[in-house]
Amino acid sequence: MSMRLMRKVGFSAAHYYRISSWSEEKNRQIFGPCSSPYGHGHDYSLEVTVEGALDVKSGIVVNITDMDRVIKDVIENEFDGRFLNREHPYFETVVPTTENIVKYLWNTLKDKFRPHTLQKIRLYEHAFLFAEKEEGPLVQFTRKYHFSAAHRLHSDQLSDEENQRIFGKCNNPYGHGHNYYLEVSVKGEIDSVTGMVTNMADLDEIVQREVLSKLDHKHLNYEVEEFKHLNPTSEVVAMVVYQMLEPHLPQLHKIGIWETEKNYFEYVAAP
Ligand SMILES: [Zn+2]
Ligand SMILES: [Zn+2]
Repeated sequence: MSMRLMRKVGFSAAHYYRISSWSEEKNRQIFGPCSSPYGHGHDYSLEVTVEGALDVKSGIVVNITDMDRVIKDVIENEFDGRFLNREHPYFETVVPTTENIVKYLWNTLKDKFRPHTLQKIRLYEHAFLFAEKEEGPLVQFTRKYHFSAAHRLHSDQLSDEENQRIFGKCNNPYGHGHNYYLEVSVKGEIDSVTGMVTNMADLDEIVQREVLSKLDHKHLNYEVEEFKHLNPTSEVVAMVVYQMLEPHLPQLHKIGIWETEKNYFEYVAAP
């Protein structure tokens, strides 16, 4: 048995994504607006999760105040208020993508909580983009998207009475709607040149073309081919979105669907 606890720390930093040996045109093509040499900034939110055994006497694993001090020591001395490309020695040569920052923080913090284990680091660039790392060589990169759609929860394989009993008001024949938030996670090794697991502009384009253009402002039951014979519960929406993206995203790892702020569903690739 082990316990996990997570501490959040915020910081602000500036950066740009550029490779000095590349032409201006190539930098713009690969990194888009992030390539501007003047830089831009983010309010980052870092989540550090530590795992360990519960100390029965004190009732804690590790003092969260000590954990906070260890994290802030790195963040305040190296990241907060800095222009990473210009003021952080490591990022003078390594592109400070969210993936590379997560990897750096993992390597820097991993031995600082002994005898406890660093279990996970997640770094939000903003609410719609985050990267995370656990033990091992891979990094997970997640983008969050929004779409609005109507649906009716109704299964062809159940009687009208059963549908009514299971789905209640969600079985209304005319349907109802949600503001869905979709999380698309890819998992892989960080490209040693670009610092990215996958090119974000390409990812956005694929998700827009394969998913959002088909689901946004649609009635899932009546207007989306994939749901003609499927009950569009959010479990099924997550599975269908996974199937829509899989042929186009070899590193696809996970689909998360926020149906409302209170309901979250996840479809994970087979290990
Ligand atoms: Zn940025
Ligand atoms: Zn609903």
